[in-house]
Amino acid sequence: MHVVVLGAGVVGVTTAWQLLEDGHEVTVIERHSEAARETSFANAGHVAVGHALAWANPRALRTLAKSLLRSDQPLRFRFHADPAYWRWSLAFLRQCTEARARHNTRIKHRLCGYSQQALQRLVADTGIQYDGSQVGILYLYRTQESLERGVANLRILADAGQQMEVVDRERATQIDPALAPTKERIAGAIYCATDESGDSAKFSRELAGRCAGRGARFLFDTTIEGVDAVGDRVTRVRTGHGDVLGDVYVLSLGSYSSRLEGLDERLPVYPIKGYSLTLPIDGANNPPTVGGIDEDTLCAYVRLGDRLRATSIAEFAGYDTSHRPSDFAHILSSIRELLPNAADYSRPQYWACLRPMTPEGTPILGRGRYHNLFYNTGHGHMGWTMACGTARITADLIGNREPELPLDGLTLR
Ligand SMILES: Cc1cc2nc3c(=O)[nH]c(=O)nc-3n(C[C@H](O)[C@H](O)[C@H](O)COP(=O)(O)OP(=O)(O)OC[C@H]3O[C@@H](n4cnc5c(N)ncnc54)[C@H](O)[C@@H]3O)c2cc1C
Repeated sequence: MHVVVLGAGVVGVTTAWQLLEDGHEVTVIERHSEAARETSFANAGHVAVGHALAWANPRALRTLAKSLLRSDQPLRFRFHADPAYWRWSLAFLRQCTEARARHNTRIKHRLCGYSQQALQRLVADTGIQYDGSQVGILYLYRTQESLERGVANLRILADAGQQMEVVDRERATQIDPALAPTKERIAGAIYCATDESGDSAKFSRELAGRCAGRGARFLFDTTIEGVDAVGDRVTRVRTGHGDVLGDVYVLSLGSYSSRLEGLDERLPVYPIKGYSLTLPIDGANNPPTVGGIDEDTLCAYVRLGDRLRATSIAEFAGYDTSHRPSDFAHILSSIRELLPNAADYSRPQYWACLRPMTPEGTPILGRGRYHNLFYNTGHGHMGWTMACGTARITADLIGNREPELPLDGLTLR
């Protein structure tokens, strides 16, 4: 079968790989000149199964209210006139009950665990290099009170079998000695030893190269203008360089999936902007050896080879990806407090991008109203963690095989 994949972020590229594994002919269409130039470009790099919590939960309401009153919050909720924004926000609010949060978290956690195994299999099969690290992630808390709240929040994952260790500050600095000079700033941490990290952009580009080596056709620098459909079948993808025809199509355009022209189906995927900075590490620095999240400031950090990456902020800014140095003040101050000599802070590279969020926090897989169009989109804040698993599921569905995970909570709702 000839499968046309729309988008070459980490989701599109991993899908292409799994389709090739199953013997399909694959074409990938991407507007940039290489894979992973948008949201998959500079994320926090965490493969964070131990953090697979739904963002929509009863506590989110308090955070939203706070963000309306103060502009320095990591969550920046703003009002917009866009109807898609209102639809999405109301759907998100409906997910903010205890019961829905539990349901969504369980589904998300199961998918993340499955996806991590798929990632490990892929890495073992290909030997792909992506600055990967398999030493866990530390979820840090600055006060005893926030640590206790964190333990309570993560109990649902522990109950689902997630390995995690609650540690005091001394043990946290044994796990990552880079925290030793500032250990007084933290009360303790939750350590998920099975979590991993790595550069999703490097991974996507390496994997795209392997896909091309196996015969996949990448149409880079090609902007998708829309799709045409007749009845319940997509008939072609219209691009700036002409039409692309396949037997089956996979939609993995990240935040732009819900804006695809010609699609007569509403996808509840909305962009939530995040900010990321990357700093060089040299011999004089004391970089972290284990990735982490400062849970009190909601800043994530990770070492990726000779670079330190730090990310934060969830902002409702529509499709605007612009940024100014002042947007990064929150991330810089939080990271410098914990890791003052982790990298060369005088040479930051700034970036902002859009998380393709669904209200539930789980991606949309499977078919909607079109028989030959499969969705693989809406991975939100955990697309790197979930990509390999959702790619495998998508390939199984296209190959008419029962996926290894049940699809409940993962299809168009
Ligand atoms: C600050 C931040 C930190 C994050 N940290 C983590 C983390 O630590 N761990 C984790 O698991 N996830 C993390 N994420 C989430 C993760 O990065 C995303 O979920 C993931 O990258 C989404 O991948 P994607 O392939 O769906 O989207 P994208 O990477 O955006 O790919 C979509 C592709 O479609 C292309 N495209 C769109 N429209 C068109 C068009 N019209 N024509 C042609 N091509 C088009 C785009 O160019 C793009 O390449 C983070 C996100 C952010 C913003």
